[in-house]
Order: sequence, then structure tokens, then C-alpha cells
Amino acid sequence: MHHDIYLDANATTPVLPAAAHAAMRAMQSLYGNPSSGHMMGLQAQALMEDVRARAGRLLDAGEGRLVFVSGATEAIQTAVLSALSAIRAQRQSGRATGRLLVYGATEHKAVPESIAHWNRVLGLDLEMRALPVDRDGRHDLSALAAMAGDAALVCTMAANNETGALSDLEGIERVLTRCAPDALWLVDCVQALGKLPLRLRQRRIDYAAFSGHKLYAPKGIGLLYVAAHAPFTPLMVGGGQESALRSGTENMAGIAALGAVLAALEDGSTFRDAASLLRMRDTLADSLRDAFPGVLFNTPLDHALPTTLNFSVPGRPSKALMDVFDAAGIRVSAGSACSAAKAAPSYVLLAMGFPEDRAASAIRMSFGPASDEAWIAQACARIRHCGGSLAQADRNLARAAVDQEPSTTDVPWDDATGSPLQAVHDMQQFLVEHPDAELIDVREPGERLAGGSLQLCGRATQHAALSALAEHCGTWLSRKDAPLVFFCRSGARSARAAALLHRMGHQNAWHLPGGLALQGRQAE
Ligand code: PLP
Repeated sequence: MHHDIYLDANATTPVLPAAAHAAMRAMQSLYGNPSSGHMMGLQAQALMEDVRARAGRLLDAGEGRLVFVSGATEAIQTAVLSALSAIRAQRQSGRATGRLLVYGATEHKAVPESIAHWNRVLGLDLEMRALPVDRDGRHDLSALAAMAGDAALVCTMAANNETGALSDLEGIERVLTRCAPDALWLVDCVQALGKLPLRLRQRRIDYAAFSGHKLYAPKGIGLLYVAAHAPFTPLMVGGGQESALRSGTENMAGIAALGAVLAALEDGSTFRDAASLLRMRDTLADSLRDAFPGVLFNTPLDHALPTTLNFSVPGRPSKALMDVFDAAGIRVSAGSACSAAKAAPSYVLLAMGFPEDRAASAIRMSFGPASDEAWIAQACARIRHCGGSLAQADRNLARAAVDQEPSTTDVPWDDATGSPLQAVHDMQQFLVEHPDAELIDVREPGERLAGGSLQLCGRATQHAALSALAEHCGTWLSRKDAPLVFFCRSGARSARAAALLHRMGHQNAWHLPGGLALQGRQAE
């Protein structure tokens, strides 16, 4: 059985044991409401203010306000609402403001979506303008200079979540100071926390957004920094918590956990320094070069987070690579929005000027700063194994193409959708009732090889990739009594296989909803 090699830290991280412990303590012993006047309330309040003070020190927030929120999406939302409300008030009082709402072309969707939403809701009708980035994912500063004079709000992330590309915040600041002294500036610092020094006081940043779950705190806690002079409009009103900046009883478990993570950052013993992270990333990059000759890195490594690699393997769509990694227990992310059938090219890579095929074959590998060398070495061995499996599958396929007669079975691919589906919900029980059932893995050969031989509920399985189903249909259709149970990674391909067989007249074809992901891996 493979243990997970989790290389998707930019999506989320596990919770640090010290953070889980702090959350548990906040739920079970220090569970007072920080707004209560009694001793337990005072203790909770002290804990909360302790965490806020720690965050203030780490971020060098100076006189700026730090507000606990549910995550970066809420932080961004509140910042955008605050900025646009102030812009609207200025315009209503007849004062001139810029007419552009500028955002980096590679921002997380939370930014442009929030701008569009509040621009509409507040009836501002200002023009949204995407700030282009160059091939390295860095903002085009001359484009910024050209639009900044007319900008009311500028939003630029500190580091990109898909590519790890680092923004030139100093350069952006210089342009804004020169060309747009009155524009408000929001910086999404989600991916930078714990990986880059952030000295907020030294910048003219008005708002900065942070998320706990990207750095070993639980989901549901984040921070919004609001510079002392920056306008503010609450998103949530009610009981007046957080000095009326964000009402609602505070998420004390999340705050306590975030506090433990910040304490670990401050004492420096849990997280690795930048030089060690860079060495680990280089080791990972080397394993990718070995595993996939011809691999192309999509961000120059010297301009990227030390914990992120974004790469494409020519000729291999991201979905196919992700499936092989997943089969081997390596959890990565496509650098794109992926549906079961096809991967939409990453808008981030398209904005960087990459062609569609490269943008549609991007994979992101990201690890957290608490990783160590021994774990990275295991990850590298597993990556090399994936490369070997794919190469082996290619050789097998080439050999089969020479040796085998082409199949004459006509598979009605287009008709499969809408066919009735018979689902196996309890495999153990199904096998008791149908001991003659055949279990058929319809994943691609590379996935099967990467995952090793597979048993389900102690039973051996056969392999018939969905893409080569036609080769087996004749045999299956000639003996229709034994149930066929198709399975795959997520249940999408097996549903298709079962529907096809059903359509071809096999009434005893079943599939496994949720696939191996829900069965738990049982490979030996
Ligand atoms: N901004 C960036 C750069 C992110 O990576 C994410 C999370 O994917 C967000 C914002 C949204 O964060 P949250 O999940 O805390 O709302």
C-alpha cells in the first residue's frame, strides 16, 4: 500500500500537530467567547490578541489593523468592498478618482470576481483592466505605468499560486508612487506567507490578504491587513466583534491554530529556511528531468517560490500525467481547471503567453516549508517510478500495435451517455453475492503500471484501458453471465465503460461510483 506523497501544498496543507493541539485546546478548555466579560471570555480574548500581536510582529504590520476573517477570499472581498466604497463616496462628493480597476492577469479568481461583483453591486460601473504579465509571470511594469494614472484600485499578488512566479512588489510600488499616488493597492499575500519576508509597514500596501490553510493552519481562518490610513467598510456587521471591522463570533479554534503556526514561524525551528527549500526544489526538478526527458519548466526557477514547480511534458496532457501520479500515490495539481473529460488550458499560463497545448499540459508540484530532505527523496523516487511506468506503457503499446490484429468490434462511443447505470455501492457485499464477478480496471496502462498490481477486496483484477475497450468487448459479449465490474480512479471512466457495455447488450455490466479514491488503495 502506497502512502500519500502530498505535493499540492499550494492548494492546501495538512494541519501542523502543534496547530491541531492549539485548536483542540481552544475548543475543549479555552472555549470562552472572547466577547464575554467573565474570566473565560477574558482568557479567550487574551489568546486572540496574542495571536494578533504575533501576526503583527511577523508581518511588520506597524500601525496597520489585522482582522481575523474566514480566509483569503473573505479578506479580498472585504478589501475590494472597502476600496470601492471609498471610491464611490469620493465620486459622489464630486472629487475626481481614477476610472480603472486594475488587476494582474494571473490573479486568483477571487480578485477579479470580487472586483466585478462589488463594481456591479455598488453601481460604480468602472472599467476593469487586466494588467498583462510577461513570459516569466511578472507584471508588465510599463503597462502598469501607462494605466496607473487612471487607476482607482490596483490588485497584484505577491506570488502566483499556479506557477509560484514572484511579483516585483518593489517595482510595482515605484510605479504606483510615481504615477498613481492616490490609487489603493491590494496585495494577495496568500502564497508568500512563510516563504518570503513580508514587511508590510515598509510598503505603501493598503490591503493584504492571508489564508491559514496554505500554511499548516486549518481551513476557515485567514487575516486581512488594512493599513492605518486605508479606508474600510465591513463586509459583516452585527455584534461588533473585531472592533466592528468584522462581526460574528471569532473562530477561536482557527485563531489558536494560526497562532501556533505563527509561533513556529517566529521560533524558526519547524520551517526550513529559503536555501534548504531551494535545494529541495532543485532535487525535485532533477527527478522530473530524469523521469520525463524533455520536461519544460513553466516559470524560471530563480523567479519563483522555492516550494513550487510548474512544468509541462510535451505530448502528455495534464490529466494523463495527473492520473499516473495519482495511481502512484503522488498528489499533484493540474495547472488548470480540469474536468473528467478534458483539461481546460490554464488561464495563468495563457496570460504568460504560452501556447494552448503547453498550458493544457501543465502540472503544479508544491510542497510546504515544513518538508524535509528524506521526504523529498521519497517523492523523487516515486516520480522516477512514474516516468519509468509511462515509458514502459509506451513501449508495450508500440509492441501491441505491431503484434495485434485491429479490433473489429464497433463500440458506440457517442451513445454511451444516458444509458442506464448499475452501480456497486458495497464491493465486499457484491462479491459475496456475485463470486464470479470480474473486476476490470479501465485506467490507462501507465496508471496501472505506476500503481502496481491491484487487488480489490482481496480479489485480483484485470486490466482493459477504456481507450482499448474494443479489444475486449467481443470476449465479454460472448459470455454475458458473469457480472463485469468496471473501476477507475474517480468513477468517471468506469461509468462510461459500463454504459457502453450495457448499450452493446451486456445487461450485467456494473461500475464503481467514486472509484479507487473512495475504496482506499489496496495495491500491493
Ligand atoms: N489567493 C490565492 C493566491 C490562493 O492561492 C487562494 C487559494 O487557493 C486564495 C486566494 C483563496 O484563499 P482561501 O481558500 O483562503 O479563500
